[in-house]
Amino acid sequence: MARTAVVTGGTRGIGAAISQALKDAGYNVVASYAGNDEAAAKFKAESSIEVRKWDVSDYDACARALGDIGQVDVLVNNAGITKDGMFHKMSKEQWYGVINTNLNSLFNMTRPVWEGMRERKFGRVICISSINGQKGQMGQVNYSAAKAGDIGFVKALAQEGARSGITVNAICPGYIATDMVKAIPQEVLNKSILPQIPVGRLGEPEEIARCVVFLASDDAGFITGATIAANGGQYVA
Ligand code: NDP
Repeated sequence: MARTAVVTGGTRGIGAAISQALKDAGYNVVASYAGNDEAAAKFKAESSIEVRKWDVSDYDACARALGDIGQVDVLVNNAGITKDGMFHKMSKEQWYGVINTNLNSLFNMTRPVWEGMRERKFGRVICISSINGQKGQMGQVNYSAAKAGDIGFVKALAQEGARSGITVNAICPGYIATDMVKAIPQEVLNKSILPQIPVGRLGEPEEIARCVVFLASDDAGFITGATIAANGGQYVA
């Protein structure tokens, strides 16, 4: 029987590539999103992947949505936002918004599926962190803190899941060519971003998706608690 994978923020950007790659690998995929109905409808029409809307920063909404889905074998915690600003100007809303969506969501989404994975003695939890959670980024104290928290979550939970056949891993992308990054003017890309990346180009969403498909597979059963950098050599931890 095909395994079921849930991809949060699975309708756009990196998440859409992950949803598609998991579908191509034979999983039943449910892709979640927050509010962009138009992008979700377009993704659904093009991919035939099931899409559902709920807010990953709301525990009850996650528990309800996951209860409706039923058995989840692979959980990809991908949904994320930025609300950048220098710390001396950062508002409570910027701080809590980013922590709730990028870090508290990992508890909200993983806690409801954890017992089922333990009972079935199989599970894959894959969290999309960021290079900026590894190295810190000026103007992103909130985002860097949340993404570093994702890595701590993975390291601790991996140890708890290990005897139950559950692996828990993080992927830390560098600059990936999503809409957000593609909106940066070419001149800025050429002058200040590409020179920081030894391979000399942006990453593609599919390159992150292929890491996810591998980590989700039976072949990756010995990899747990890992933080996998996919950043073109920009930061070597
Ligand atoms: P996008 O902005 O392209 O897509 C974000 C997705 O997350 C959308 O589907 C969005 O839904 C969903 N989402 C946002 N907030 C919530 C919420 N509260 N509840 C449910 N879903 C939500 O993001 P990217 O593809 O660029 O990034 C994906 C992940 O990768 C993020 O965690 C990001 O931090 C991380 N990352 C990205 C990098 C990059 O270069 N792009 C680099 C390093 C890490 P909707 O469409 O409804 O808004």
